[in-house]
Amino acid sequence: MKLSQRIQSIPPYLFATIDEKKAEAIQKGLDIIDLGIGDPDLPTPDQIIDAMTLAIRNPSNHQYPPYQGTLAFREAVSRWMLRRFNVSVDPKQEVLSLIGSKEGIAHSFLAFLDEGDVALLPDPGYPAYHVNALIAGGVPYSVPATEATGYEPDLDAIPLDVVAKAKLLFLNYPSNPTGAVASDAFFEKAIRFAKQHHILICMDLAYSEVYFEGRRPRSILEFPGGKDVAIEFHTLSKTFNMTGWRIGMAVGNATAVQSLGKIKTNMDSGIFKAIQEAVIPAMDQPDAIIDAQNAIYQARRDIIVDGLNGLGWSLSKPSATFYIWAPIPRWATNSAEFTIDLLDKTGILVVPGNGYGALGEGYFRISITSPTERLHEAIHRLQTHQIRY
Ligand SMILES: *Cc1c(COP(=O)(O)O)cnc(C)c1O
Repeated sequence: MKLSQRIQSIPPYLFATIDEKKAEAIQKGLDIIDLGIGDPDLPTPDQIIDAMTLAIRNPSNHQYPPYQGTLAFREAVSRWMLRRFNVSVDPKQEVLSLIGSKEGIAHSFLAFLDEGDVALLPDPGYPAYHVNALIAGGVPYSVPATEATGYEPDLDAIPLDVVAKAKLLFLNYPSNPTGAVASDAFFEKAIRFAKQHHILICMDLAYSEVYFEGRRPRSILEFPGGKDVAIEFHTLSKTFNMTGWRIGMAVGNATAVQSLGKIKTNMDSGIFKAIQEAVIPAMDQPDAIIDAQNAIYQARRDIIVDGLNGLGWSLSKPSATFYIWAPIPRWATNSAEFTIDLLDKTGILVVPGNGYGALGEGYFRISITSPTERLHEAIHRLQTHQIRY
């Protein structure tokens, strides 16, 4: 068998590798505390399960869905954008259903890049951007978005010859893995940059509903000119603990949304109609669900951040996402060795920062998608093993 050059150029997906490490550790008999992958441990809300049990009984839901999503779902998305962000999107032109946002993100590189075109990607950033730029034949260019610049990329520092070849800029706020949110000034600057250089902004808003102390993350479409230059990826995976269901949506610039739709109609056949139907009531009245969930995440965040700070770290508390991004201890050699050593000694699984790009080296990411007792236990194990910053 001769594989394509494309497949030989792509590394295995980060979490596939981590799953192997986890399986080895379990084999050795370790009691693993999994703070690795960002997959909510909380169940999908009952309201959605109840609506699904009805929707699945309706035979008309068993057939192929419309490619762009049912009109009822797209209208619900439009109401969601208006209620939550005060942004109007036309359900017929500016909304597209996605089989989870990772699907839309992956296909966007095929829709917007030609062979050799540059994709500007945050480093550290969600690994799917880099790999999918490669799969599409594009050239990923890492834009530093590190602590030094407040986790915002310095767009002016990108060399002009790179900018000239760039077709798209991926942004992700609130950020996975850093938990950072962007300032309003940065959103405005990114829009000016995109206009000036004819670059499409792909905004990944996977964590729009995971936030604390009422600090609600913003959509780039709220800003003047945003819809001229941006497509935004939303998902119900993190919002309603539905990672296994696969439902998300793209909204924003009509040309961009429809171009992505054109790729998709040739690649997939949409989301199970029963799922699209089942989420609508929760999308229309999400506040109680989201507030209760965020109270849980906030308590967990405080256990980890206070716990690590008690061990010599000096972390501030992120205002959004269920991630804590922390430097590896001063005595550790690098991210990979630290996380393997941590797993061997304590059974605590975290993700090495370099998995999110070269500039994530020296950091690790903790996902607080485990119950509070397990988080207390993790801090306790760090204390017992004298693992300090
Ligand atoms: C989880 C995640 C996604 C993808 O979620 P889906 O389940 O595919 O909707 C996209 N972007 C980021 C940054 C994520 O963390």
